[in-house]
Amino acid sequence: MMNSLKFIISLIFFVVIIIFPNKTISIKCFNHPDFFEFYKRNPINYEFIKKRSLKTKRTSFNNNNNNFQIEFTCGIDDKILCDKARKGFESAGQIITSTISFRNPVIVNASFYNFCKTDNQCSSSNDNNMVAGGANPTKTIALTDNDGIVRYYPQALVKQLPFERYPDFEPFDISAKFNSEVNYWFEGDKLPIKSDQTDFILIILHEFIHGLGFVSSWNDFFNFANPQGLTPVPSADNLNSGMSFNGFIENIFDKYLIFLPSGEYVSNVAAKINTIVNEKGKFYQTPENFITTFKSSSQYQQSEMMLKAATTSFSLGFLPNNTNNLSEAIILETTLNPFRTGSSLGHFDLKTYMNTSDFLMTYIQDPGMTLGDYMSISGNYTGGPIGPKLRQILGTMGYVIKDVYISPYTPSVSLNKFSTAATISSNIGFMIFIFTTIIIFNILI
Ligand SMILES: [Zn+2]
Repeated sequence: MMNSLKFIISLIFFVVIIIFPNKTISIKCFNHPDFFEFYKRNPINYEFIKKRSLKTKRTSFNNNNNNFQIEFTCGIDDKILCDKARKGFESAGQIITSTISFRNPVIVNASFYNFCKTDNQCSSSNDNNMVAGGANPTKTIALTDNDGIVRYYPQALVKQLPFERYPDFEPFDISAKFNSEVNYWFEGDKLPIKSDQTDFILIILHEFIHGLGFVSSWNDFFNFANPQGLTPVPSADNLNSGMSFNGFIENIFDKYLIFLPSGEYVSNVAAKINTIVNEKGKFYQTPENFITTFKSSSQYQQSEMMLKAATTSFSLGFLPNNTNNLSEAIILETTLNPFRTGSSLGHFDLKTYMNTSDFLMTYIQDPGMTLGDYMSISGNYTGGPIGPKLRQILGTMGYVIKDVYISPYTPSVSLNKFSTAATISSNIGFMIFIFTTIIIFNILI
């Protein structure tokens, strides 16, 4: 219960939204000031006007040559390693700008440093527990969607939407921090990748995609360690006399989630869960009062059902907006049981996609495999490392995908050590830890 209390108290900084479609929208939103304590959010007030016009006031900094800008900080003395990391960030950025056409530049605050020395995030005796780092949206903004539902958008995506006037953005859209102590292999290294090395670009690119908004809101916010039921992000306000619970808010990614094989939209379940606000009222003396009420409500059964779906293979998919054909749904990762925050749901199904051109957003990337290896095994998709289904997802969320991919460079292939019939193994020992830990930062928004 302590954890629940702590968590809900953190939620008192959440979002209050008053919506007047096509008029002034008054919004309170939050930052992520501390990468390691993502739940600390500072409310910010601003107003902006949503219009159908495609004009933007930010065309002045629209520069097609540099639409994914990396502001790189290196916190270690090893200049050679710093340089490799900088180039890795830049190459990942180039892959993204070769795939997505940005209306306004996305700006990444990227840093590479020793987590143990600087942040006291030290690994235990074995490196499997080393925190590799991650990337997340610096700020998320609640917007009313065309279905009338308020959802969270990452700032990078809001910048791409056709508003006449934009809110005051934070200086950075994506925060990316990576640990210099991890045994990375860098493109351009003289020696081929070793079996215990991780390709830096592969991880950076994967994390950048999360930073662009590829992340589900569904989690057990009242018990991350031992999930009992899933909801979108709870939104609450602190009042002098208690707290006001305002409902659960999905991410834009979640708008397109469907149950398989039925095709029912997961958003319908979010709506059912949110009926608790009307049924039980918004005001609670304490966070625990709310949690107790919620857990004994009929709405909570929907949360439990969601957890069941999220831990049962082939139960959830992402249906792109250009199709109604359920067979074109992208299968999401729901094989992990128990549910694993940050690995479950917000990734492509590993077994379905690991040997395909959509390998990038599976929750495991094998050590000893370069980005070029993955691309080679999956048939050298002409669209580059961002596969056709991932392109559909990014396009559905609102990014403009380029028709033609011109590769900024050719990643190295080290597959001479594999047989020609090699398939990607499930040698998961190292990376699972990396991704599990990374994801904690991603749960966001
Ligand atoms: Zn991931």
